Amino acid sequence: MTQTVPATQPSEHKTACGGKVEDLTNYPSAIYHGERIYFCTQACLDLFLLNPDPFMLGEVEHPI
Ligand SMILES: [Zn+2]
Repeated sequence: MTQTVPATQPSEHKTACGGKVEDLTNYPSAIYHGERIYFCTQACLDLFLLNPDPFMLGEVEHPI
């Protein structure tokens, strides 16, 4: 099976945490309001899943 990754893929993506990541394969993601968003760590994703709206509003502190 061939699985090619398009070379034209943007190399930078914003995370829900306000940072930027280049290689998305190393970061957890979730769907929020129909959009895929990325998190810096699995702990951030877990927090998001518990409180999606407060997290996206920046009302939840991120574990480092
Ligand atoms: Zn975070």
